[in-house]
Amino acid sequence: MENTMLFWFLIVSDLVFLGMALVLFKESLHEQEARATRIGAFASLAAIMLLAIIIWFPSVRLLLGGVFASAAIFGLAFCIPGPQNRKALKGSMGYQVGEVTRLDESYSVFVRTRGLREGSEQYKTFYETNPELEERDKIRRKKGLLGKLGNVDNGYQPNVAMVHASFDMPEFLGQQAKADPYENTPPAQLTPEKASAIVKNYVKHLGAPLVGICEVNPAWIYSRRGEIHYENWEEWGSEIKDLPKYAVVFLLEMERDHVISAPHTPSVAESAANYAKGAYVSTLLARWFSHMGYRGVAEHSRNYDIILPPLAVDAGLGEIGRQGYLIGPKFGARVRVFATLTDMPLVPDKPISLGVEEFCEKCKKCADSCPSRSIPTGAKTVCRGIEKWKLDEDSCFDYWARVGTDCSICMAICPYSRPNSCFHRFIRWFVANSPLAKLLFPHIDNFIYGKRWKARKVPDWLSYPKRSESEDYPTSLDDRKY
Ligand code: SF4
Ligand code: SF4
Repeated sequence: MENTMLFWFLIVSDLVFLGMALVLFKESLHEQEARATRIGAFASLAAIMLLAIIIWFPSVRLLLGGVFASAAIFGLAFCIPGPQNRKALKGSMGYQVGEVTRLDESYSVFVRTRGLREGSEQYKTFYETNPELEERDKIRRKKGLLGKLGNVDNGYQPNVAMVHASFDMPEFLGQQAKADPYENTPPAQLTPEKASAIVKNYVKHLGAPLVGICEVNPAWIYSRRGEIHYENWEEWGSEIKDLPKYAVVFLLEMERDHVISAPHTPSVAESAANYAKGAYVSTLLARWFSHMGYRGVAEHSRNYDIILPPLAVDAGLGEIGRQGYLIGPKFGARVRVFATLTDMPLVPDKPISLGVEEFCEKCKKCADSCPSRSIPTGAKTVCRGIEKWKLDEDSCFDYWARVGTDCSICMAICPYSRPNSCFHRFIRWFVANSPLAKLLFPHIDNFIYGKRWKARKVPDWLSYPKRSESEDYPTSLDDRKY
């Protein structure tokens, strides 16, 4: 009787093991994860061999029983839930350790590179105060933010043209970013609950899969305007004030089919497409608020008044990872953040904890794969009163200019960016809830998937010609020149 029980315990345990190994194999094959596919295949074979051993060699059943029982106990330990990250649950201010000072937009590398014009008054003013930035900025400005667009793929025209076409859209819409209440339209009388439900469903209907609401924290509003898009230079250096009270923040998914090519042109084509969609959805929503009798301000790449990732954290859409991107549910780091501000009364959402901070502490995959070493490998530091992993934006953007894309390797390699399949949702649930998973999964993930990035194959319609070996851009740690 005891022998029969042991036998069936072993058979069932081994079949569970085989099932898990086959799922890993199938998912990894589909995701082009070569190392994980090999491990899945090897584990499947091992499980099949074990099945034969269990059936044909009764003498080892007791030993195997001990091994499987230990594994089962270990597996059950992952199911013990623990407290969630209290700092994360407080939102963007959960990491406040001092007085939070607002960022002057003119200091952003984006703005320094594509905004300031040599010889202008603004240029003189800025570099008189920051002479140490001038030389490096001059070089970057000469190359352009993305250098020779698509350089990594020899400027492959179909993909590069997609980038240009998409970047034109926010340009067209930027001047419509601010919408006042429409003429003779009194504010609609909706309860905040009803208004929030309509807004969220409307935004989802317009194509944004994830949406949240928060009150605008003044700490994240740029202290002074630095980026000028439509020759309105009189605004340069002016204080940004009088923004509406609420923010509807939404995330657009970056298609994995494109992102896995990072740093090649399909990934920047997808970034650009998202900037176009984000401009469209945020502007449409601003217009909707206007026709409801309220103000609407679209926050997209041609009109930033505020830093968006902390806003998304406050709206319950995720946490900030080591690489400085928002990491949200479902798509992880494969998202772009946009918002529309309004004074229509709405119900704010609550920040969430996904276990990102704990996972990032041990994972470090993005930092190890970053070709310009821009992502810190160590602990968080304090930046303007907030504890965070501080990205070296200068070296990151220098790399962009060399490859001629927005790189995105750190987005592509992040374990949270894997497909939103049952398998990965299951893993993410454990990371969010189990202290043991937070402790061990980053190491297990690094073992199974590896720590180095290699661009994957994209669908045929996006595939770009290979560049000759002799060309001088670095795509891995081995040939970088930084
Ligand atoms: S790759 Fe790892 S360390 Fe980097 S953001 Fe993603 S989870 Fe965090
Ligand atoms: S975008 Fe590329 S260069 Fe910049 S931090 Fe990420 S991996 Fe590094």
